[in-house]
Amino acid sequence: MKKYDVVIIGAGPAGIITGVTVLKQNPDKSILMVREEEKGLVPCGIPYIFHNLNSVDENIMGPKAFIDLGGEVITNSVVDVNIKDKIVKVQSGEQFFYKKLVFATGSKVIVANFVPGYDLKNVFYIKKSYKYINNLFKELKDKKNIIVVGGGFIGAEMAEQLAMNTDKNISLIESEKFCFSKAFSHRLSEIATEELNKSNVNVHTSTLVKEVLGKNGLVDRVRLQNNEEIKADAVIFAVGYKPSVEVATKSGLQTNMAGAIIVDNYGRTLDENVYAVGDCSQTLGFLTGRCDYIMLASTATAEARILGYNLFGIKIKTSFIGTIGIFSTKINGLAMAAAGLNERSAIPSNINFITSQFSAFDRHPSSIKDSSSLTVKLYVSPSDGSILGGEVWGGDSAGEMINIIGLAIQKEVTIYELISFQIGTHPLLTSAPTMPVIIKAAELALSKIQSLKN
Ligand SMILES: Cc1cc2nc3c(=O)[nH]c(=O)nc-3n(C[C@H](O)[C@H](O)[C@H](O)COP(=O)(O)OP(=O)(O)OC[C@H]3O[C@@H](n4cnc5c(N)ncnc54)[C@H](O)[C@@H]3O)c2cc1C
Repeated sequence: MKKYDVVIIGAGPAGIITGVTVLKQNPDKSILMVREEEKGLVPCGIPYIFHNLNSVDENIMGPKAFIDLGGEVITNSVVDVNIKDKIVKVQSGEQFFYKKLVFATGSKVIVANFVPGYDLKNVFYIKKSYKYINNLFKELKDKKNIIVVGGGFIGAEMAEQLAMNTDKNISLIESEKFCFSKAFSHRLSEIATEELNKSNVNVHTSTLVKEVLGKNGLVDRVRLQNNEEIKADAVIFAVGYKPSVEVATKSGLQTNMAGAIIVDNYGRTLDENVYAVGDCSQTLGFLTGRCDYIMLASTATAEARILGYNLFGIKIKTSFIGTIGIFSTKINGLAMAAAGLNERSAIPSNINFITSQFSAFDRHPSSIKDSSSLTVKLYVSPSDGSILGGEVWGGDSAGEMINIIGLAIQKEVTIYELISFQIGTHPLLTSAPTMPVIIKAAELALSKIQSLKN
C-alpha cells in the first residue's frame, strides 16, 4: 500500500489551496489529492458559462499549481476512511496510507424532493461538476421558458445570465419578499431585486413553487402557491447547498447542527491527524460566535491557507477566527457587496448598532468617463465605534471596497481610526480626496454617536 505524508480528499478551491500551501512550506512532503472528476470548474464562474463566457471550457479550474510543486493527483472517489489505521480507500478498491488526512469534500446541492414533480425530466440543479454543467449547457441551448427556483446569489446570477440570451424567457421564484435576502440588508436586497427585474428576469417574490407539473415525464409548467401556473421547458432549482460529509461521518467524525465537520480555528478535527477545510467544515460567525451556514470560496481558501501553513506545526499563530461573510455580485451592471453584520443578523444576535450612509462618484470630477455612483453603508457599534458590517453598491470598485471594510471588521477598526485613514486618490481611479466614501460614512457615524451621547 502506497504511503503519503498527506492525503487531501477533494480538488475544489479548499483542496487545491491546502495542497499548494503545504507543498510551498514543506517541499519534501508527499501529498496525494483525490478528486472525483478529471476536469474541474471555477465554481463562482458557473453562472457566466451561460452568457458572458458562453462556454464551459472557458471556466476550467484544476490542481496544476499543486502538480507543478510535486503533488500527485488521482481521479477517483474516496469511499471509506479508516481513521484508526490511517487508511483511505477509493472506489476502484485501491488503498492509501496517510500520516495526515484533509477533508476538502465541499458541498453539494440540496435536492428539491420536498416539491412534487422534482423528479421530472428537465428539472436541473447548479452542480459544481464539469460533466453535469456541460450537459446542462447543451440542454438549455434550445429551451425557451426557463424557471429558476431560489433567489439567493447563485440562482439570481444564473437567471440574470440566462436572461441575456434574447431567445429565452426567464422567470425566477423566490419565497422571501426580496432576492439576496440572506446576504444583504433589507434595502440592498430590494435594490438587487429591482436590478434583476430590469435585467429581463420575471421575478416572482413572496411565493413558492408548489408543484412542478409535466406531461409524459417531462416538465411543462410550475404551479405557484397562489395557483398561478408558469410555462416551463426547464426548471433549475437553486435552493441551497449542504456540506458533503458522508465519508467523514461514516469514519466517525462529528458534525455540527449545520451538518459540517466540527473543527477548531486551525481546521483540526477531534482526531489529531485529521483536518477539514472549506464548505465541508464548520464555520462560526466572527461577531456572533455562533454556528453559521456561510459557504464561500473566499472563506474556503482563507481556511485552506491557514491550514496549509500550520499542518506540520503552528507557524502562523493567527488562526481562522470566524466567518465575516463577505459577498459580492453584479446584476444588470450594478455591483453590490456586503460584509459582516446587517439588521437581519444583528437584531437576532442582540448586537447594538447604528448605521451611516454616504454616496459619491467613484471618479473625479464625476464627468470623467466611466464614473459611477458609489454608496457605502456602515454598521457601527455605538459603544466603542468599531465597524461591525458594511455594504457597498454602485460601480465596480464596490468589489474591492468591501474587502477594505472586511479588513476593518476583522481588525476591529473604529470609526475614530477610519477618520485618520490615509488614502491615495486619482481622477481615473477613485472618488475625490474630498469625498472618500468609507471615511465620509465613518464621519457621519461619528456624528450620530456624538448626538446619542449629548
Ligand atoms: C454557482 C456558484 C457560484 C458561486 N459564486 C461564489 C462567489 O462569487 N464567491 C464565493 O466566494 N463563493 C461562491 N460560491 C461558493 C463556492 O463555490 C464554494 O464555497 C467553494 O466551491 C467551496 O470550495 P470547497 O473546495 O470547500 O468545496 P467544493 O468546491 O465543493 O469542492 C469539493 C470537491 O471535493 C470533491 N469530493 C467530494 N467528495 C469526494 C470524495 N468522496 N472523493 C473525492 N473527491 C470528493 C468534489 O467532487 C469537489 O470537487 C459559488 C458557488 C456556486 C455553486
